[in-house]
Amino acid sequence: LELTLGATESSWGTGANDIPPSTGLANSHKTSKDEGMSVAIGRDDALLEKYGLKANDAILADPEKHMGLYEDLIQNRDAKLIAGGAAQNTARGAAYCLPPKSVIYIGAVGKDNYADLLREKNEEAGVRSEYYVEASQPTGRCGVIITGHNRSMCTHLAAANEYKIDHLKNPEIWKLVENADFYYIGGYHFTVCPPAIMALAEEAAAKNKIFVLGMGAPFIPQFFQEPLDKSSPYWDYVMMNETEAESWANGHGLEGEKDVAKIARKIAELPKANEKRKRTVIITQGTDETVVAVQGESDVQRFPVHVVPKEEINDTNGAGDAFAGGFMSGIVLGKSLEECIDRAQWLAALGIKELGPSYPSPKQTY
Ligand code: ADP
Ligand code: MG
Ligand code: MG
Repeated sequence: LELTLGATESSWGTGANDIPPSTGLANSHKTSKDEGMSVAIGRDDALLEKYGLKANDAILADPEKHMGLYEDLIQNRDAKLIAGGAAQNTARGAAYCLPPKSVIYIGAVGKDNYADLLREKNEEAGVRSEYYVEASQPTGRCGVIITGHNRSMCTHLAAANEYKIDHLKNPEIWKLVENADFYYIGGYHFTVCPPAIMALAEEAAAKNKIFVLGMGAPFIPQFFQEPLDKSSPYWDYVMMNETEAESWANGHGLEGEKDVAKIARKIAELPKANEKRKRTVIITQGTDETVVAVQGESDVQRFPVHVVPKEEINDTNGAGDAFAGGFMSGIVLGKSLEECIDRAQWLAALGIKELGPSYPSPKQTY
């Protein structure tokens, strides 16, 4: 049983101007019809400019600058609404590859249709939702603007920002925590409720269970370094992409370091709370090889990615989340590190052929 803790948001996506009509768009229409939702097609450099967003980034929405983005996407760009939330995408990904009733997801939502949609999507995916409901806020939203193969993500956490440790410590929920053997934390949760992260971290270390972090975004090491560093002794596995790795390096005595092998090695050797398990650091780099460092091993391991022909790529949004989901399935099933990475790359490759952070139906098996 795996328990995933994360910030919970729905996503609005728009863009994809250079996807060949014969593949990407046809695919999008199919997905759109299947789910009864509209799809966005168009060139959105203008939208990036309007909201002062970078083409390839993941940021939290600025209350002054970005609040109009979500309505703009829905009203004017015909954006498609998809279930999102980085850790939730990972939970759905892990469930895709595991026996039924393996995965529980914990996060916070508002009391609205978006929350219902997320519950529905989790149920379809075989993920049990145990949400804390914060009625005073809307369910979190992430605006996604895709230009070519770049994606700009702007997240308004709203209710997702209101998760309370009381929910986790509620006896019914804590029982689920105690029954779980694997914990996965989405890095966005450092912006929400670090005490909940620490409660799971300490539970894992005390009982020699496995604690995994997915970094989520470059701004986590940049702006949430203190709670992040407090949790690092508990990381049995930590996954991040190359930009997140560089961002971590900047705050930890490796300023300007771009060699992900060096960064991975440094993270692997950080102090460890549970000395019964060695830490494993996994750095993904899009289409470039995945670099893995294991505590106590001086050489890193390198794994080339599963090639996906350009014309089959629909949307790389959530590639890292899918990677983490595939990886977790391997860990839960007790597979070797090589197989865990291979499962991760396999699920990521499947995920990027779909629109949004989704997985193909009918189900494919590893
Ligand atoms: P993130 O989505 O967090 O930026 P990456 O871009 O590093 O993460 O992607 C995570 C993994 O997804 C990669 O290691 C790779 O396995 C897979 N992946 C991402 N983009 C591609 C691509 N264009 N072709 C094939 N695999 C990809
Ligand atoms: Mg990437
Ligand atoms: Mg990612």
